[in-house]
Amino acid sequence: MIIGSHVSFGSEQLLGSVKEALSYQASTFMFYTGAPQNTMRKKIDRHLTEEAKKIMKENGIDIKNVICHAPYIINLANKKDLEKWQFSINFLKQELERCDELGISYLVLHPGSAVGYPINEALQNIVDALNIVLETDFSCLILLETMAGKGTECGKNLDEIAYLIQNTHKSIGVCLDTCHLNDAGYEMKEFSEFLDLFDQKIGIEKIKCVHVNDSKNLLASHKDRHANIGYGTIGFENLLNICYNEKLKDVPKILETPYVGDSWESKEKKYPPYRFEIAMLREKKFNENLLQSIQEYYNK
Ligand code: FE
Ligand code: FE
Ligand code: ZN
Repeated sequence: MIIGSHVSFGSEQLLGSVKEALSYQASTFMFYTGAPQNTMRKKIDRHLTEEAKKIMKENGIDIKNVICHAPYIINLANKKDLEKWQFSINFLKQELERCDELGISYLVLHPGSAVGYPINEALQNIVDALNIVLETDFSCLILLETMAGKGTECGKNLDEIAYLIQNTHKSIGVCLDTCHLNDAGYEMKEFSEFLDLFDQKIGIEKIKCVHVNDSKNLLASHKDRHANIGYGTIGFENLLNICYNEKLKDVPKILETPYVGDSWESKEKKYPPYRFEIAMLREKKFNENLLQSIQEYYNK
């Protein structure tokens, strides 16, 4: 199983990401090229990239499985403020350029929020933007993420994702997010039925990444709050089934579960859970003392 988590990019850029991923015993990872909430980006440092690639090779991480995530503030759906829409388009182009520079194959993108637009117009705005971005050829492929449908989020069902893919002139892929799918109303305990439906509407070969997250909320809640693996409403067995689905066996699985604190309820979240969640999924064994395992490890 190709599995990792989101990690930071930081001052050592890709090299820092690789080191963090290795500290979780991950076989891949996902990073943002800067803070996910803003668009301040540093120039890619070629030496750090080379060093990162060397360490990846030594540790059996195939760069083809490494994922980049575009910042949340890119919104291709809303063009009421044309300048902002144009900014999103330009930023997305630069992000794809950075991915090509780094040698990264996939960039995950939230399709966008409709804000005041009716859904069909919002979807068309996204298509128009993607077609402008993809006038340039990039090696890196955009993956549209399936969304929970919080607020006016687009991409909350397979028909919306299908529309975007079928109307964009160049090839794009999809990133499934199990928490978002649950919150959007797709039953994750019937994952193979979901995949059949996906295959009919979009084509299973479009799936290039899976975000494996449990959910704090019920089916169709449209909330989007991630829970730790096995500690949410989807549950360990269902997430395990998804991770080991034969049809997605070569697709990288990425955890975006919350950091934990001194208790499940504590406001201060300081310890990453990934090392232990990856171990649970690899060993196919639920750790009912997850919180204690993480605290002990990081307090040593
Ligand atoms: Fe995302
Ligand atoms: Fe996600
Ligand atoms: Zn989410």
